[in-house]
Amino acid sequence: MGLDEASIQQRLEDREPFTADELFSLESAGFDPEELHRRLHGESCFSPSELQTLALIGMSEEDIVRRLLAGEEFSDEELKWLQKGGFTLAKLIRRVFGTSNPTKEDGDLSRSFWLGPEDEMPERLTNQNMAMALQRLMSDIGLLSDEEHYMLESCGLSMEEMQRRLALGDGFTEEELERLESAGLSASLQRLASTETISDSERQVLESCGLPVEEIHRRIMTGEDFTEDEVNRKNSTEMKPEPLQFDPLITKNQMDVWDGVDVLDLDKKCSEPLFQVFMTIWYSQKMSLLVKAKTEKVQEYVRAVEAGYHRQNPYHNNSHAAEVTLMTYQIWTYLSAGSFKGYFEQVDLLVVLLAAAIHDIGHPATNNDFLVKTKAELALRYHDTAVLENFHLATAFQLMRSRSISMLDHNLPSPPVTSLRRRIVEIVLATDMAVHKKQVDDMARSVERHTNRQEIDKRMLEQYIVHTADVGHPFRPVPQHQEWARRVNEEFLQQGDREKELGFTPIEMFDREKAPPLPKNQLGFLQFVIQPLWKPMEALLDTKSRPASLFLQRNIKVWQDEPTENPPSDG
Ligand SMILES: [Zn+2]
Repeated sequence: MGLDEASIQQRLEDREPFTADELFSLESAGFDPEELHRRLHGESCFSPSELQTLALIGMSEEDIVRRLLAGEEFSDEELKWLQKGGFTLAKLIRRVFGTSNPTKEDGDLSRSFWLGPEDEMPERLTNQNMAMALQRLMSDIGLLSDEEHYMLESCGLSMEEMQRRLALGDGFTEEELERLESAGLSASLQRLASTETISDSERQVLESCGLPVEEIHRRIMTGEDFTEDEVNRKNSTEMKPEPLQFDPLITKNQMDVWDGVDVLDLDKKCSEPLFQVFMTIWYSQKMSLLVKAKTEKVQEYVRAVEAGYHRQNPYHNNSHAAEVTLMTYQIWTYLSAGSFKGYFEQVDLLVVLLAAAIHDIGHPATNNDFLVKTKAELALRYHDTAVLENFHLATAFQLMRSRSISMLDHNLPSPPVTSLRRRIVEIVLATDMAVHKKQVDDMARSVERHTNRQEIDKRMLEQYIVHTADVGHPFRPVPQHQEWARRVNEEFLQQGDREKELGFTPIEMFDREKAPPLPKNQLGFLQFVIQPLWKPMEALLDTKSRPASLFLQRNIKVWQDEPTENPPSDG
């Protein structure tokens, strides 16, 4: 770690903390980490990493000192969390009261990185663990566990920063490279720096500029400039990864795992789940290489779209839009990685992504039937046909015009913008449940007819993807599906209430007094709408369909196990 006496002294004087790795080396060189810690932090009983761990489990130093002084006991739940954070009660007492000399064990900071059972803790968490952790982080399926999270942070790079770099294909500085490599992470970094981070369609765009991707990559990694001539040839194509202009709460790696992102949870953490999902895809798929609009304008548009959703709607709000956009992305990428390799291009992703994001904008929380039968202004405007779907489309395209943001102007010679617009129109119109049955029948036939999947009509398939995502909450884990189902049901019942107020008779399902119990209702929806819809998609996704199919089966089972009759009323 290159810490000599003088630099240790300097660090102590500057009160600059040591990393866990440095503390390990210092300890093996005969320094007492406890002593260093006391000299560095004076009155605090805990090291910075311990304080961080405590904060993560929702406790502060003050809280612990107060509780110990007052003789107030910790609950079992709290003790469990403390232990997971590496704190036994004895250790806490020693830290706070200093009644005994710190043991060797206590000095070993790795304890606070280990969340597993005490007796299973390895002698020391090695660099190799870290290398494996990073590799898993960068692979398609692996996400980091909490303890790995701490270990990486001890390298001086926060988890969020690592993920940001990985999502963007962004490089590390010389100094960071040195630090990470000394932790045994060179293989992972090599992959990061390799061309694997560039997709085939991106390659096409880049090579059309006359520079091989490898060369562009080399220049970016070495910081070597492009000549003016090359820059001109690049046109407006931006080669360097863009700086991130927002605070991402989710990552590409999480989105690539079927249940890696819970939109309901994301919605609790921020006010703009749609923006988070859309922009994370935008950056990680390097969409700015394709689309001419500046990223600030794209962000402005997506924020305007999200604001166009009515948040107070129980179901058709911005989180529904975020969920549909996410699932659309997932199905699209899963297909692209399987039987449809080479079938889709980046511009196709632009089409489905935009269609998904806007598909319910301005939704009034009542359905087409309601608008038609109450002779609403919108029904008049769209002559009772796909009233809402037409309205969503017009609203979204008007928003582009009024803000002068063309989300569809791109850098490729073809396809023309008008054809992209047309495809978005068709996709959103196909989210109308009135055409559900026809879509399912057509797709089932098409799947049966084409053993070579790539002969399936692209427009038909992209409409099917977004429609599936639109009604796709039964493919999510049970708690998520239950919540979406509760929300959609509440919206239906609220519509029923309004219908009654206006002197109409709602259909049974929308009538609070007469509606069948939710389990029965949902079971019907899953068995008669969702299962037939999923069958062709399952065939197309092949092995990639497994997590969604599994969740669908579980959700059906859960509804089956619930009582489907109304509880007997006592009067
Ligand atoms: Zn929808």
